[in-house]
Amino acid sequence: MTTDARTLVADARRVTVLTGAGISTASGIPDFRGPNGLWTANPGAARMFDIDAYLADRDLRVQAWRNRHEHPAWTAQPNAAHHAIADLERQGRLRGLITQNIDELHQAAGSGTHAPLMEVHGSIKRAMCLSCGRRVPMVDVLARVGAGEEDPRCEVCHGILKSDTISFGQALDRATLLAAAEAAAECEVFLAVGSSLRVNPVAGLVPLAHESGAAVVIVNAEPTPYDALAAAVLRDPIEAVLPTLVGSEG
Ligand code: NAD
Repeated sequence: MTTDARTLVADARRVTVLTGAGISTASGIPDFRGPNGLWTANPGAARMFDIDAYLADRDLRVQAWRNRHEHPAWTAQPNAAHHAIADLERQGRLRGLITQNIDELHQAAGSGTHAPLMEVHGSIKRAMCLSCGRRVPMVDVLARVGAGEEDPRCEVCHGILKSDTISFGQALDRATLLAAAEAAAECEVFLAVGSSLRVNPVAGLVPLAHESGAAVVIVNAEPTPYDALAAAVLRDPIEAVLPTLVGSEG
């Protein structure tokens, strides 16, 4: 690791962290665009995350419910990087944690108690009716899938159900996005971890933080579109570098 990156983080009183799928690969949840990513191996799988295709295609929904039933998030445990970010929060230096992940591993590590945790893309642990907007625990719907319902419907209005996560074509929650933008604009260091930074509007938080005066530190194995504006870029495995970077070890 460059000393600069560690010094930048160590000297900062307000750090905002943005995480993506890469922080959870060491916990056994594949990312989308990394070398072993779901979409790298099977580009057609991206259609599963298109809201129009999901609404129109029953076969796709049946497959999506099978995937949710077998999703590694149900058994995954937080790794050293999730714990390091929770430690930064306990140190009182976390301005906010913005995650694109839907696996709730940050909560499992203890994040979100003393500083805001913004799940900008939702959570797989909730299901939502796309007609009436009712939200229910995902475990309840998966119990119905396990009992043989291939395409479970809303028990109130019979609408189509989906995980309460953002698919392509769906708008992000405005209040959550606004809170994320504030956290990006009000930090001394903006730490982007395990994201290809290709999906807007969340990727746009990186230049927002930079323009607001934050030093941007990127931890990602592969290049991102924002490496050039970063004060430091680290390519090391996230689970190895985060504990040292945020000072919870070493
Ligand atoms: P992405 O798949 O586009 O990019 C992940 C990046 O992390 C890649 O560039 C990869 O090289 C890097 N990476 C993976 N493992 C790493 C490691 N151990 N050390 C260093 N770098 C590593 O992910 P994204 O930018 O978050 O966008 C994908 C979208 O899909 C997100 O919006 C998210 O909601 C969703 N998603 C979530 C999960 C999850 O909740 N765990 C998993 C897959 C996808």
